[in-house]
Amino acid sequence: MVNWILKKIVGSKNQREIKRLRKIVTQINEIEARLTSLSDDELRAKTAFWKNELAKISDLNEQQAYLDQILPEAFAVVKNAARRLCGQEVLVCDQPIVWNMVHFDVQLIGGMVLHQGKITEMATGEGKTLVATLPLYLNALAGRGAHLVTVNDYLAKRDSDWMGSLFKFLGLTCGCIQNDQPPEYRREQYYCDITYGTNSEFGFDYLRDNGMATTRETQVQRGYAYAIVDEVDSILIDEARTPLIISGPSTVTTQNYDKYKPVVEQLVKKQSLLCNRLASEAEELFAAGKKEEGAQVYFKLKLGQPRHKSLLRAMEDPELRRAIEKVELSYYSDTLKEELFRVKEELYFTIDERAHEADLSEMGREFLNPGDPDAFVLPDLISEFAEIDLDRDLTDAQRIEEKAKRQAFCDKQAERIHNITQLLRAYCLFEKDVQYVIEENKVVIVDEYTGRKMPGRRWSDGLHQAVEAKEGVQVDRETQTLATITIQNYFRLYFKLAGMTGTAETEANEFHDIYKLDVVVIPTNQPCIRKDLNDLIFKTRREKFNAVINELKVAHARQQPVLVGTVSVETSELLSRMLKREKIPHTVLNAKFHMQEAEIVARAGQPGAVTISTNMAGRGTDIKLGPGVVENGGLYVIGTERHESRRIDRQLRGRCSRQGDPGLSRFYVSFEDDLMRNFGAADRMTAIMERFGMKEGEELEHPWLNKSVETAQRRVEQRNYMMRRRTLEFDDVMNMQREVVYGLRNDSIENEEPRKIVYEIIDETIPAKVESFMEADETGPNYAGLLNWVNSTFPLGLTAEKAGFEGKPPEEIAAWIIEKVKTSYELKTKGEEREAVRSLERYIILNAIDRLWQEHLYAMDSLREGVHLRAYGQKDPLIEYKNEAYDMFVELMGNIKNEVLHNLFRSTSNLQAFEHFMASLPQNLLHQEGGGENNILGDVTGGAEQPAAKLRAAVPVRREDVKVNRNDPCPCGSGRKYKSCCGRKA
Ligand code: ADP
Ligand code: MG
Repeated sequence: MVNWILKKIVGSKNQREIKRLRKIVTQINEIEARLTSLSDDELRAKTAFWKNELAKISDLNEQQAYLDQILPEAFAVVKNAARRLCGQEVLVCDQPIVWNMVHFDVQLIGGMVLHQGKITEMATGEGKTLVATLPLYLNALAGRGAHLVTVNDYLAKRDSDWMGSLFKFLGLTCGCIQNDQPPEYRREQYYCDITYGTNSEFGFDYLRDNGMATTRETQVQRGYAYAIVDEVDSILIDEARTPLIISGPSTVTTQNYDKYKPVVEQLVKKQSLLCNRLASEAEELFAAGKKEEGAQVYFKLKLGQPRHKSLLRAMEDPELRRAIEKVELSYYSDTLKEELFRVKEELYFTIDERAHEADLSEMGREFLNPGDPDAFVLPDLISEFAEIDLDRDLTDAQRIEEKAKRQAFCDKQAERIHNITQLLRAYCLFEKDVQYVIEENKVVIVDEYTGRKMPGRRWSDGLHQAVEAKEGVQVDRETQTLATITIQNYFRLYFKLAGMTGTAETEANEFHDIYKLDVVVIPTNQPCIRKDLNDLIFKTRREKFNAVINELKVAHARQQPVLVGTVSVETSELLSRMLKREKIPHTVLNAKFHMQEAEIVARAGQPGAVTISTNMAGRGTDIKLGPGVVENGGLYVIGTERHESRRIDRQLRGRCSRQGDPGLSRFYVSFEDDLMRNFGAADRMTAIMERFGMKEGEELEHPWLNKSVETAQRRVEQRNYMMRRRTLEFDDVMNMQREVVYGLRNDSIENEEPRKIVYEIIDETIPAKVESFMEADETGPNYAGLLNWVNSTFPLGLTAEKAGFEGKPPEEIAAWIIEKVKTSYELKTKGEEREAVRSLERYIILNAIDRLWQEHLYAMDSLREGVHLRAYGQKDPLIEYKNEAYDMFVELMGNIKNEVLHNLFRSTSNLQAFEHFMASLPQNLLHQEGGGENNILGDVTGGAEQPAAKLRAAVPVRREDVKVNRNDPCPCGSGRKYKSCCGRKA
């Protein structure tokens, strides 16, 4: 009842809208009648005039208002152009066809709905291809491009050729992107007024432009103003769970860690032996009553191995504890500074548990690199370069070579330092079964606060790999995601989005809730006289298929064409075998060869034709009736199974009775069908059927039974909707992060002075770093640590004396380092060509973003897999995912900045690295750097204009905590109750 009332209200809202639009139709037709007197050129001049007017308006909303205002006249112009084209031959996919279409009134209505950014539902054969020309023309006038999205390449080509003739007549350009086009060609297509293409081509171009291209010239798209998605239900609903993915060789490896593992392991053993000696020494001293001396030794042990058993035991004794703490305090007072330094130097390394750092001492470095005291300090490249420049014995070429050599050495050094530091941390700060456990040959992190396992989480910046190397577990992944987006999120980029299909009404809620797209149902041009017969219901599949074959024989005998729809390729093949036995000629389609299929489908209306087709096959091509078929009742559509979704059934039925033709449709159903078995419809029906007294081999039909089937379908639809929503919610997290990262990436590409971004990073990172070293806990400011960091990040070759940090306030120290870093950077780049330096700076930023973003994607992938494995109290996996993704993202941003700093002085001045980077990209992603195209881009504002500030302000996903009710459906989308799914107590 409620439903019924709802339908009435919704229905009447739809009718009111149609009534309103009909008034405008009258207006359009009046204008169109007047246009007939114009010459072709006069008509065409309208296009140029409007384009010119719209170019003067920069505000997007004002432009829309202008478009609304000229809509009646613009539609009239398109319709009139179509009229003028009639009788002319146009080339469509290299075949000449004669233009014979003038927009019907209902098509004008459909066009207006599309212009409003809604979904227009128009039955198959109503001419949606032509409908789209109206809003495409109107919106293209704004000069920001209008896109039409089709389901396959063939349709993109066909429709852009066909409708392109109309646009060209009116003085607009029309392009088409296809799978095999090179970038420079694609770019031309995007710069046409109107562009046709498939959703995946549009989506991949977005990923390549924003995630991979390194210069503006290599980006092909130019913003996302307006798109019409054809067969919108199929794209936004059926394909909702398969994201577009560009993958490449995995960047996450443990190789380098494996290489350094043995030496680090030895070092750790050495330290361990040393600490054991210290422990027994301390114990003996205490036993001998030498408390003071014993405490001294324990303090040293604490620096080297804070969790040593002997020490922990000693700390349990209040008296000993006080003695040790007293020693500790005294060491951190100013007078004993040098003494402290000496104590540290007697260890191989010291461990700071709180800061999660391990610092190598001189002795440790000497052990790792005997005879090379500088192995852990980056060379002073600036001085070295200056020396090379001054060396008169060298030729220019030798200088470059020499510099490259020094640079390469520096890079290798840096890489090694990083690997060893991370390994050392893995060994000394991360304990198995405390911070992590090993499960199924994987390192699984344990949350330090709750003790919960967090499968899927990965530590960043190589630490996870280091722990994997330590434990000897290797996670092999040959390829990994380099860039990914769901189709849905791609379409959300558009300023205005519209869609068209024959079947949207049943999913109107979903379109509204997720995409903010309203559905308007447009009446058909001619009244639809299709007869939808009641379902025929059988006990078994065998009986059902036999009945289908019998029905086919009868229809074939009277030469009525039949289209048989199946849910799967398997069923198609089964039916085909049965038909062969009966010697009935037929064709099978399964959505593989779009072009041939389009031709076959087009012939499916010929007398006596039998066509078996899965759902998707031949979508977008309509079936015209051959001679004599109308008298024979038109096309007969037989469904061999009810689909999970009513929409797909409607799509199949809609294949017949186009444009007022006669037609017939019927579904054959059995109790053994998946839908009937799984969704409880069978139980209810068995009861009904028993009442009817159904016997073996008999079939049943009754409108009530149709209703039962539909109830089952509704239930499945609901469940699938929940799952899709769930997927999108997960994807939203990634989407926000992607927007921030791509924003920064584009900013680096577009910023005239990438150095500004680099300097901003310096200005932000150094003070924070200094602060963290200075933040006095009981151990006091860590000057040595700071010096270490500076020396292993920038090639300044600082000594403690030169730096003179001690006693200065952090701000002063930070300012001093910033100054030093900037000065030496200016020095380094002084002699270089400006443009080369800019490219290099861009490359450094992009490279850092790309490498770490990819590592992040890898980590996010495993997080997403892992989050469902966790047994939570009353926690929602989505929220867990959001929270952890948030933390990981904050970390990512920090790591990107650090990496930029690290690489600033490390990249070869002669652009070798840059060239190497460009060469390493898959060829088809970029076209060669071509000059002279800048001017085209000069005035373009695309979706790529987020400022870098966005990155810094970005808090993409907030942490949140929500309780789920135990009796609610589980948020993971399993369909079970929460309490018996993710909410089950572990
Ligand atoms: P849909 O996508 O709505 O199923 P199509 O765009 O494939 O329909 O068009 C179906 C057929 O209708 C095409 O063969 C087309 O030529 C024809 N058609 C569309 N509009 C008109 C029109 N206004 N006048 C004559 N034929 C039309
Ligand atoms: Mg179509």
